[in-house]
Amino acid sequence: MSNKPVILGGEPILPKPVPLTRPHVPRSALVVREFRRILSSGLITEGSCLKEFEERLYGYLGAEHVVAVSSCTKGLMLALNALNITGEVILPSFTFSATAAAVVWSGLRPVFVDCDPETFNADPAAVESAVTDETSAILAVHVFGNPAPVTELEQIATGHDLKLVFDAAHGFGSLYEGETLGSGGDAEVFSCIPTKLLVAAEGGVVATDNPQIAERVRTAREYGNPGNYDAWFAGSDGRMSEFHAALGMESLSSLERNAKKRNRLAGLYRERLGDLPGLRFQKVAAGSRGSFKYFAVAVDFREFGLTRDELALALTYEGIESRAYYDPPVHRLRDYSRYCAHGSDELPVTDKLSRCVICLPMSSVMTRAMVENISECVYRIHAYQHELRRHLCFQRLAA
Ligand SMILES: *Cc1c(COP(=O)(O)O)cnc(C)c1O
Repeated sequence: MSNKPVILGGEPILPKPVPLTRPHVPRSALVVREFRRILSSGLITEGSCLKEFEERLYGYLGAEHVVAVSSCTKGLMLALNALNITGEVILPSFTFSATAAAVVWSGLRPVFVDCDPETFNADPAAVESAVTDETSAILAVHVFGNPAPVTELEQIATGHDLKLVFDAAHGFGSLYEGETLGSGGDAEVFSCIPTKLLVAAEGGVVATDNPQIAERVRTAREYGNPGNYDAWFAGSDGRMSEFHAALGMESLSSLERNAKKRNRLAGLYRERLGDLPGLRFQKVAAGSRGSFKYFAVAVDFREFGLTRDELALALTYEGIESRAYYDPPVHRLRDYSRYCAHGSDELPVTDKLSRCVICLPMSSVMTRAMVENISECVYRIHAYQHELRRHLCFQRLAA
């Protein structure tokens, strides 16, 4: 029997299409009961659920203070504001544009740096060499939930007297040197939207060991009102509603289980795809654990025989959704390219990664069988690479 990929006329392996990700939706009966309680209490924002969610997060995260906010982007803005910084902020370009948006909205200038080809996180050496007299902060990212080199970045920040904030949007479920994230640098900011591991529908969490930053963020999410309407500073509205907190709380109760499951699925992907030439996986440091917000694979065209985009196209025919995160990288996006002062070749690793990384389906509700089947599809696409390239070449000629 032929084992041709679907794009070449073969039979599908997957019984039904697999989306890139699916949110872990909290168990409805419990949530509905909680929603009823919130409604009958009349306190639909700033009530007991928010307090309890923050307390439970405090118990889970390794941080002294936890402030839940309306989104990670808003949390980043409030944290940057709380740090009272000016001038330049160093951040990676291999991230989601929201990281940079928080910097620009805060009236700060983003300075993009290159990343490490193995971990996909900001390269500490690149961070250090980007420091100027104008630099006030580093905004690092735990890319796809792979913990950034926190200690090294802290040393750089301390050495140059800079603030250090982490975009921990992907950080729920990650472990850095065996511990949950949350107390790195001056603040770490998490996201609770449905594509992340902890789902509150919408929302973010600012974690910090610094009581002043926590107080300032807490006040900032309330227009800068410390309670007596005598605005302490120009704040914003960044509250998390009771409904979101209730969802988040329910999701938090399965976070560790989901993180473990994703790590098992990632391990299975690595095991199944590890023998194929030209595929490389994001390297997680010994002692750390990724959250595997996505399972990212770097495709070396020369060794694999197909480009990332050719593989993605063939996977689409198999019913497998994939995504080329982050392509283009932030410094090549329409609005952000103007912050790049040194021409087009300044971030070679980022540019290369953005051309070759593909994110394969990953979610807390996926099964081992799905990973096995997806891997099998990658295998047969690779096995038929020559025929596939001819096929695509003819298609291009015919077009
Ligand atoms: C999702 C995401 C954000 C934004 O999160 P919101 O809660 O939607 O504001 C920020 N940074 C990164 C890296 C993200 O992936």
